[in-house]
Amino acid sequence: MITKVKGTYDILPSETRKWQELEAVIFQVSRLYNFKEIRTPIFEASELFHRSVGEASDIVKKETYDFSDRGDRLITLRPEGTAAIVRSVIENKLYADPIQPQKLYYVGPMFRYERPQKGRQRQFHQFGAEALGSYSPALDAEVIAYAITLLKALRIPNVSVKINSLGDSDSKAAYRTELLQYLKPKISELCPDCQARFKVNPLRVLDCKIDKDSPILVNAPKPLDSLSLVAKTHFQGVLSRLDAMGIAYVVDKSLVRGLDYYTHTVFEFEADLPTLGAQATLGGGGRYNDLVKSLDGPDYPAVGFAFGIERLLLALESGEKAPKENYIHAFMIVLGERSQPKAAELLIDLRHGGLIVDTDFLMRPLKTQFKQAERLNAMYIIIFGDDELNNDVVNVKNAKTGVQETIKTIDLYQYIVKGIQNQTSTCSGHCDSCEDEC
Ligand code: AMP
Repeated sequence: MITKVKGTYDILPSETRKWQELEAVIFQVSRLYNFKEIRTPIFEASELFHRSVGEASDIVKKETYDFSDRGDRLITLRPEGTAAIVRSVIENKLYADPIQPQKLYYVGPMFRYERPQKGRQRQFHQFGAEALGSYSPALDAEVIAYAITLLKALRIPNVSVKINSLGDSDSKAAYRTELLQYLKPKISELCPDCQARFKVNPLRVLDCKIDKDSPILVNAPKPLDSLSLVAKTHFQGVLSRLDAMGIAYVVDKSLVRGLDYYTHTVFEFEADLPTLGAQATLGGGGRYNDLVKSLDGPDYPAVGFAFGIERLLLALESGEKAPKENYIHAFMIVLGERSQPKAAELLIDLRHGGLIVDTDFLMRPLKTQFKQAERLNAMYIIIFGDDELNNDVVNVKNAKTGVQETIKTIDLYQYIVKGIQNQTSTCSGHCDSCEDEC
C-alpha cells in the first residue's frame, strides 16, 4: 500500500466542513477590511526565496523543498506567501495600480521540511495578508486590526498580541554593530545554531529557541533601544492607533521573527490554549519596507502577516463555540424500484429549493437506511416507497422529536422548511442561521 508522505495528511470529508467554515469567516472579514484575494503558484524559482526569506533563515537553510525540473530550472515549493506575492506585485506592476495601497490576502498550502508534530506539518496551510504602498503606521495598525477581527469572529479565546520594532534599515544597521560587539566575546558559550547565525545574521541569535533564557541573550542589547527618531515615531504611531482601537498588546523587546526581510514593526499572535500544546503561535508578521526594492521592484513599502490554518482550527476546538457538527436537512429513504424516478424528482425539487438532502444509492433495507440517515445527522427522514407513490404522499419523520407524519407530496418542501424554521426559533443548534441568536 502506498501511504501519504511523512508530514502530510488528508483532509477527510468529515473535516472539510470546518475548513470551509473557517475560510468563509476569512472571506467575510477580508471583505470588511476590503482586502482582495490573490492566488499565486505553489512553486517559484528558488532564487526568490533565497533572496527574500534570507540565506540565514532556518526556512531556506534546512526547510525548503528544492528540486530542478526537467528543464533544469531550480524550483522551490513555496515555504511562505509573502515573497511570492511580492514577486507577483512587481511582475504585474500592481504598485502602479490606481488603487493604493494594495490590500491583498491569500489562503493556500505551504511546504517546509520540518520535524512533524502536533500543529507542525511539512505541508500546511496559511492565511496571510499583505498591504503594500504606504509608509503610514496606520497601515500596520490596519493589518493588526484585521487579524484581531478575524480572531474575534472565530471566537478564539486567550489571544495575546506581542509587538516590537526592529527599526528602519539605519537603526537595524546601528543595532547590528552593537549586538556584534556584545556577542563576540560570548558567542562560543551559545549553541551551534547561534554561532552560525552570528556570522550571517546576528539579529537571529535573539530568536534562538535553545538559548532564549540564557543570561547572555536576556541581557543582550535590544533593537528597540537603538531606534532612530523616525523609527521611534513610526512605532509610537502604531501603538497609539492600537490603543485607540482598544487592541491590547505587549511590547516584547526580544521579538525578531524568523524571516530576514522585516523592518520596523514585527508582531505575533499567541493563544494560550490546551489544544495548541507547544505550538502557541497562531500567526505573525511585520513591516517589510525594503523587500520589494531588493527583489528589483520600486521603492514600495509593505506590511503583512500569516496565520497557520491548522493552528487556527486547533484553537477553534478550545473556542467558545466549537464548529457545528455536520448535518443535513433531510435524508430520503427510497423503497422499491418503481418509486425511484419520482424520488429523484422530489430530491431535485428540495435541493433546488436550497435544502441539503441525501438519499440511498445501494438499495439497502429500511433499517440500514435509517442508520445511514442517523449517521448523516439528518434533521428529517423522508420515507418513500410504492404505497406512498400510489397515494401521492410521503412519510416524514422528525429525527429530533420522533414524530412521523404522512403528508401530500406537493407539501413536502414547505413542511420541511417550516419545520426547520421552528427548530431554529427553539434553538436546536442545527442550522446555520441561528448561530448568533443562540
Ligand atoms: P511564519 O511564516 O513562520 O511566520 O509562520 C506563520 C504561521 O504559520 C505560524 O505562526 C504557524 O501558525 C504557521 N506555521 C508555520 N510553520 C508551520 C508548520 N510547519 N506547520 C503548521 N503550521 C505552521
